[in-house]
Amino acid sequence: MMRGVYLPGGRRVRIGEVPVPVPGHGQVLVAMRASTICGSDIRAIYREHLGHGAEAYAGVIAGHEPSGEIVEAGPGCRRVRAGDRVLLYHIAGCGVCRDCRAGYMISCTSPARAAYGWQRDGGHADFLLAEESTCVPLPEALSHLDGACVACGFGTAYEALCRAAVSGRDAVLITGMGPVGMAAGLLARKMGAAFIVGADVAESRLELAQRFGAVDAAVPADGAALERILDLTGGLGCEVSIDCSGSAAGRLLALRATRRWGRSVMVGEGGRLDLDVSQVLIHPSLTVHGSWVTSVARMEELVDNLVRWQLRPETIVTHRFPIGEAAEAYRVADEGLGGKVAIVMPD
Ligand SMILES: [Zn+2]
Ligand SMILES: [Zn+2]
Repeated sequence: MMRGVYLPGGRRVRIGEVPVPVPGHGQVLVAMRASTICGSDIRAIYREHLGHGAEAYAGVIAGHEPSGEIVEAGPGCRRVRAGDRVLLYHIAGCGVCRDCRAGYMISCTSPARAAYGWQRDGGHADFLLAEESTCVPLPEALSHLDGACVACGFGTAYEALCRAAVSGRDAVLITGMGPVGMAAGLLARKMGAAFIVGADVAESRLELAQRFGAVDAAVPADGAALERILDLTGGLGCEVSIDCSGSAAGRLLALRATRRWGRSVMVGEGGRLDLDVSQVLIHPSLTVHGSWVTSVARMEELVDNLVRWQLRPETIVTHRFPIGEAAEAYRVADEGLGGKVAIVMPD
């Protein structure tokens, strides 16, 4: 038997006991080592079950940011074997549609699509039954906790920065300095960003972002935020903005503080946006991207680059709990005041 964490809604956490699964064809059994908590787990599952479609929670073991060691590879596995350290791209797609062939299994619309922790058992458990197609090899230089941070958060931030083609020619504004915003700041610096500004309503998160080196300047997201960002950039704004807040105010700040002809990427999920299209988008000639997680190929590329850059995603983890204390882990993550919250298992 093994333990697994379930999220019945109403901010409750239940730990259940289920049999250890047996890998079938093309599947692996992963002994979990780290499984971090994502803002989406809080927003769409923990508080109440809000999700539809790809975000519908099917009452499974939670956790969509898994990393661990393969203990058994089922028949037909062609790349991985027992003993391999892996992180999991968190969506198993049908494998044959256009989106899956492009590696964006996140966008697969087949009924066969299932995300770990949403529609099939996830990483908050002693073991995870995973598809070989979702395994991303974890290099020795990275810890399992690093791997868990890549499985959704750092992957999502990296995709957004790639979409905006961030380089040394850009000042980058990040609105929302939660774990994804912190990841975006750390990655933007390695990609050469000339200057990085972070904005958030939580003073504690701005302090953490500065301590982790994720931003050069921290701006409280209040009524004076736009003016402060313009002051920091010669009155022109940032060439690139990344919204990781998911709030209407954060998104509008990101767009309004983007320099003319700049690029803005929307990553923070949920809610709506109401804006003056001529004033905010057309006259400043902005390019706006929506960006949803990343592809499995880009996640592999990110892992390679993290080693080259000597960047450790676990830098942003501020809280670690054993699986038996999952309720406390979720309570802390729900407060939204610290960095990344992780459930870690002993080796
Ligand atoms: Zn996530
Ligand atoms: Zn597909």
